[in-house]
Amino acid sequence: LNRIYADLPTTIFEVMSHLARTHEAVNLGQGFPDDPGPEDVRRKAADAVVDGWNQYPPMMGLPELRRAAADHYRRWQGLELDPDSEVMVTSGATEALAGAIFSLVEPGDEVVLFQPLYDAYLPLVLRAGGIPRLVRLEPPSWTITAEKLEAAFSERTKMVLFNNPQNPTGIVYSRADLALLADYCVRFDAYAVCDEVWEHVIFDDVTFTPLMSLPGMRERTVKISSAGKIFGMTGWKVGMVFAAPPLMKVLSKAHQFLTFTTPPNLQAAVAYGLGKEDGYFTTMRAQLQRSRDRLAQGLAELGFSVIPSTGTYFLSIDLAPLTNAPDDEAFCLDLVRNQGVAAIPVSAFYAEDAVRSVVRFCFAKHDSTIDRTLERLAKIP
Ligand code: PMP
Ligand code: GLN
Repeated sequence: LNRIYADLPTTIFEVMSHLARTHEAVNLGQGFPDDPGPEDVRRKAADAVVDGWNQYPPMMGLPELRRAAADHYRRWQGLELDPDSEVMVTSGATEALAGAIFSLVEPGDEVVLFQPLYDAYLPLVLRAGGIPRLVRLEPPSWTITAEKLEAAFSERTKMVLFNNPQNPTGIVYSRADLALLADYCVRFDAYAVCDEVWEHVIFDDVTFTPLMSLPGMRERTVKISSAGKIFGMTGWKVGMVFAAPPLMKVLSKAHQFLTFTTPPNLQAAVAYGLGKEDGYFTTMRAQLQRSRDRLAQGLAELGFSVIPSTGTYFLSIDLAPLTNAPDDEAFCLDLVRNQGVAAIPVSAFYAEDAVRSVVRFCFAKHDSTIDRTLERLAKIP
């Protein structure tokens, strides 16, 4: 058996969703919306199946999707991407992450990662033989500083794996933060894999900046996106990878033997969806922002300390200010078993016992779901 996998616990998202089903809890743990997703995009996928889009599509993705993606990111992020040599479709961002890590990291290479980290990152880096160099971010600001980067980067740094907007913190890093990170990548000649799956899910008029757009980063950055997040249909495993041609060449070699392709009907629907008018995306943001505010306000009224979130489906509370502050994991287990609410303990996003007082909730829910959650939380003794 491979020790890395044999020793891994089941992912917290599966654990909590299972407990939520067992205890008939409201599930604000795993991040998925109550909303079914845009009907026209779902209809396109259904029509594509009936119309016969069911055989292997080209390995790099449907040409229509690659063109639509290049157009979409020019429109939204000012990126110039060549659909033929700089765009690839994967089966979810998860495959893109695996492929990027497996194709860029060699055994013994150091990889800079940021905690809290999305739970798939560390096992993939370890499986590739990479040596993780963990930068620890602290609530409530989760600030990246030059001192922290100075301690993590070295001559052996091959790659940095960064997530922006960030799950679970809900932080959208500013251009200045990214410039600091970019400086280190350039100075140490490191690749950057930037997981930008939450790029469209941002609030309060914050600006999202793709890491690839910073000086010195275009040739060394792999950008990863997810249609599951762009359209709020998380079961649609359609990821997109963007990188300069020399990087894309090696990334495509990983892809060809991980999944090779991605269901063509979903690709056709995503190609259509990426072309939707600006209003679709801005309305989605406004609706999610209202849900965020509803949950944040309700939690604050119940006396919880809410950590601000300007992106993703998530906001967190800090239990530390509570009297006899409970451990986040114990709190979440009690909550799902006895109050019927599932949430995620943020300690699950740390490799070592660091922060154990933060609890994440998914607010991409109908008002009635949020209100039911708040009613249940109000009953905590
Ligand atoms: N990266 C991050 C930061 C995520 O939050 C998620 C899923 N929520 C993924 C990657 C995985 O995306 P996909 O479902 O497209 O594989
Ligand atoms: N990304 C989702 C979240 O953070 C869950 C993904 C998963 O279940 N693996 O909740």
